[in-house]
Amino acid sequence: MLSKASSLMVSLPCSRVRGRPCMWPNMRKHWFGKQLLYSFGTLFWRPIKTLRGGYHAYGVAGLLCNITNMASSLQIELVPCLQDNYAYLLHDTDTGTVGVVDPSEAVPVINALERKNQNLTYILNTHHHYDHTGGNMELKARYGAKVIGSSKDRERIPGIDIALHDGETWRFAGHQVLVMETPGHTKGHISYYFPGCGAIFTGDTLFSLSCGKLFEGNPEQMFSSLQKIMSLPDETNIYCGHEYTLSNSKFALSIEPNNEALKEYAEHVAQLRSKKLPTIPTTLKKEKLCNPFLRTSSSEIRQHLKIPAAASDAQALGVIRRAKDHF
Ligand SMILES: [Zn+2]
Repeated sequence: MLSKASSLMVSLPCSRVRGRPCMWPNMRKHWFGKQLLYSFGTLFWRPIKTLRGGYHAYGVAGLLCNITNMASSLQIELVPCLQDNYAYLLHDTDTGTVGVVDPSEAVPVINALERKNQNLTYILNTHHHYDHTGGNMELKARYGAKVIGSSKDRERIPGIDIALHDGETWRFAGHQVLVMETPGHTKGHISYYFPGCGAIFTGDTLFSLSCGKLFEGNPEQMFSSLQKIMSLPDETNIYCGHEYTLSNSKFALSIEPNNEALKEYAEHVAQLRSKKLPTIPTTLKKEKLCNPFLRTSSSEIRQHLKIPAAASDAQALGVIRRAKDHF
């Protein structure tokens, strides 16, 4: 159970482009030219690493990290909602623009906004489930905020104003936001990638140490969605929809008990949760080392679940998902 009082705020240095065309015009065809993104990520690696170090070193709820001498920055604040959901407040400190990702309920978001006397301009939804969109209408009515979601979920996202397509670039106060279709959990699930900040909001596609249940998709779709996310720079910060990491770590350890990186991370997660601190954001690098759904070729996992060597990674993901569903 998350304390409603606990929230974590970080400021990430971001590149901002105003009135310029998309930096990746061929993105639809070549999902994120890896080379380009890696060098882009490297540019911002140090400050982000410092921020994460601060977060883990102090472990203080409500921590605000400021990067000075940056042209602009984006603050990301975790807002615990319902039992184990996270909404995220995005604040562009230059323009004062504020957005919220996946507000499952309005009240904690309103409280967070009122504490800082902020208005709300955008509501970003990763998918249509109630525990990600439940606050849409109340927040929209109160602040006049625009609701953003997938064009495939036009009929299912309450109050949707701006429907985005796979590979499209949208801008949040000048920050590039790349829309990645990541189906599997639902048909119309999208993730929002902020390349300038090295941050991605993955909703219920990728969790720390797990992935979302396959309610509307199949293992092949989820595998392909996770591959897209895995093509981003390793240092990308992952902001997911739920605080499930502790229970996920138990399943992950049960099928890969000799994974040293996983053992170490599971211990760290247990410590954080014992203090009611969030385990989010995680990083892609950490997930590649520890998350069984990104480790479908691990021989230890395959042996534990009796997955034949000839089975494809997508088939292996299906077996791991079923095992997790019954764990
Ligand atoms: Zn969901």
